[in-house]
Amino acid sequence: MSDPLAIYIHVPFCRAKCRYCDFFSITDLSMIEPFVNAVTREIEQKRETDRRVHTVYVGGGTPSLLEVRRIEKLLGAVRQCFDVADDAEVTVEVNPGTVDKSWFSDLAATGVNRVNIGVQSFDDQKLEFLGRVHSAGTARKSVEAAFDAGIGNIGMDLIYCVPNEDVQAWFTDLETACGFGPSHLSCYTLTFEKGTPLFRMMEAGRADPMDKESVAGRFKATSRFLTENGWFHYEISNFAKGEENRSRHNTTYWRNLPYTGFGPGAHSYDGIGRSWNRNDVSRYIRDLGAGKKPDGGSETLSNRQQLLETAMLGLRTREGMDIKEAESLVGTDFYTFFNPFAETLENRGMAVSGEGRFFLTLEGMCRLDDIVSSFADRILSATFSS
Ligand code: SF4
Repeated sequence: MSDPLAIYIHVPFCRAKCRYCDFFSITDLSMIEPFVNAVTREIEQKRETDRRVHTVYVGGGTPSLLEVRRIEKLLGAVRQCFDVADDAEVTVEVNPGTVDKSWFSDLAATGVNRVNIGVQSFDDQKLEFLGRVHSAGTARKSVEAAFDAGIGNIGMDLIYCVPNEDVQAWFTDLETACGFGPSHLSCYTLTFEKGTPLFRMMEAGRADPMDKESVAGRFKATSRFLTENGWFHYEISNFAKGEENRSRHNTTYWRNLPYTGFGPGAHSYDGIGRSWNRNDVSRYIRDLGAGKKPDGGSETLSNRQQLLETAMLGLRTREGMDIKEAESLVGTDFYTFFNPFAETLENRGMAVSGEGRFFLTLEGMCRLDDIVSSFADRILSATFSS
């Protein structure tokens, strides 16, 4: 019996120009209808009617630029071509300012039971700095509209650690978000990605990233604040109001479990290998229109690659890495392979092992990038039989 499948539908349309975003988006909305038809054809091409699906995620870009009838068409194709569980988590990403209450009500009627709203902040100054198109007032209205529409599972994205951010301003943002009663929060520390306007601002001396120690301090304070208020900190940036509200979809990625992606540039993974679609949206639409597959490429993962991904994804989470799984990939004992580093982490209170898992503490999570890079060095320098 194969693992239940996670399905991801990639919507490349977006009209915003956020300063921290390196995402290539399509702004020509007249391409939406041919795009939706093309994705529907791709779903039919990959039909597996006996394959159980436990989560469907419509992400982007800005999927909320699509009318609900188009989202309904995509979800209808998934339900026709796969065995979608009755209690499946069906999520749509929403950008404040692109939808109103009736859009949310119509969405709820299509069986979508979870929305993730890209609020980022309830502070207009911060939103302006990030280059977001919505205001704090619009963000509030969007969240209220989602609740009024009766969507059961509402999540919000928030960004913190922006340059010169006052710590109280951040906690005001967090308290405002919590005040709405959401079931999920994603709190991302701002990153300066190459190729983004923000990176160019930094290079020009117009924006200074917050220093590492301050980021670590704010990360720990955020985790403590939310944990003390009943939130479950299950992944470095993700918090759920109760374990049952963790994102099932993203947990599939972090547990390195199978998923199938639809749309331009979407990736799929079957536990052994990965494949991806072409990025070019016009080519994608043309190919599907001609009955062709939008294949962009594929690779079979070696044990080394699988271990690398298990470490990179697993160490982000409270669950950490499955020791037996890691041992089956390296063919030797976990500590024999990762010592002295693994034991040093434990001795320094940055990691713990228990119930067959190796996971990072809050102190360890503050240094995730460095720790993962050390694990990666060990994995990349080792000899693997396959
Ligand atoms: S809304 Fe999302 S995809 Fe669009 S520019 Fe902003 S971060 Fe990027």
